[in-house]
Amino acid sequence: MAHLHPFTQHILQWYSVHARSLPWRQTRNPYAIWLSEIILQQTRVSQGEAYWHRFMAQYPTVEHLASASEDQVLLLWQGLGYYSRARNLHAAAKEIAKQGSFPSSFAELKKLKGVGDYTAAAIASIAFNEDVASVDGNVYRVLARYFDVHTPINSTDGKKQFALLAQQMLPKGKAGLFNQALMDFGSMVCTPSSPQCLQCPVQASCQGFHEKNVDVLPVKLKKTTIKTRFLCFLYLRYNGKVAIKKREKGDIWQGLYQFVDAHHLFSADNTQALSPETISKHFPTACVVVQNIKHLLTHRVLYGTLYVAECNEKPLLPEGYLWVNEDKLSAYAFPKLLLTMLEHLHKKA
Ligand code: SF4
Repeated sequence: MAHLHPFTQHILQWYSVHARSLPWRQTRNPYAIWLSEIILQQTRVSQGEAYWHRFMAQYPTVEHLASASEDQVLLLWQGLGYYSRARNLHAAAKEIAKQGSFPSSFAELKKLKGVGDYTAAAIASIAFNEDVASVDGNVYRVLARYFDVHTPINSTDGKKQFALLAQQMLPKGKAGLFNQALMDFGSMVCTPSSPQCLQCPVQASCQGFHEKNVDVLPVKLKKTTIKTRFLCFLYLRYNGKVAIKKREKGDIWQGLYQFVDAHHLFSADNTQALSPETISKHFPTACVVVQNIKHLLTHRVLYGTLYVAECNEKPLLPEGYLWVNEDKLSAYAFPKLLLTMLEHLHKKA
């Protein structure tokens, strides 16, 4: 390893002792690796591992995944959040099955739906040993601190600068190993808060540490404004059935199911909470199940409220609602917020 940068040497040495043992690291199967990368995009390893096993058991190959329906895929994904990942995964599986073989280069992988630079580089390097650096949040943080770089990581210049730096550190022929080593190092040693600098194997040459800049790195440009939105759902029971609807394109949770959307039903502004009077005016038997549960999405804060109402007559609802047996609800994929509401409803029953 004499020709390697000292940083690279130390990281590889550290990894040879401390690598996390993860099931997708026991294989070079690109499908299994791709699945793990998509799941881990916005999910912690501890939660994602069970989902990975579930998907591999139900859909052991990309062809199996391609032949599933979107509803089935979303149901298996239920609880992981960021459902566009599941929809893109499914669309990409169909595309791969149509092509007849798994794309085997960074450039080809990037054409898949839901696969950006980072994911394409991770799959290309781990499954196909291509010399490309995968730069995720962990890598930005480690490189910014180690080289004491203050360019914002989410600026155009920053992205270029860090991509170049990561590529320069890459050991040729061992890209997959190094990319995984940096990810583990970033999540186990050079962590976002309270990094383990005193036990760190690269501390002696870490410029950020010596300049006392660890706490201010990496630099990030301010986030976009967060919007607040109120969601009020009605769990309408009629004759043992409940009204649900598949959410449409152009909004959060596309393809998942919801109960009756009260804001939509009453043409109300969803930047404000609906008053109990508005609900009881239309559904006098309605009782509140849970009120203003806070749920965070990337650029939104949601406040969810659920009412339950017994209806003696079938309510007139806008187009698109289905009446399903209450005991069949588990066959439909709901967003996490609605599942939490359902738990409250079951506790009250
Ligand atoms: Fe990160 Fe601290 Fe190690 Fe520098 S010394 S790489 S800041 S853990």
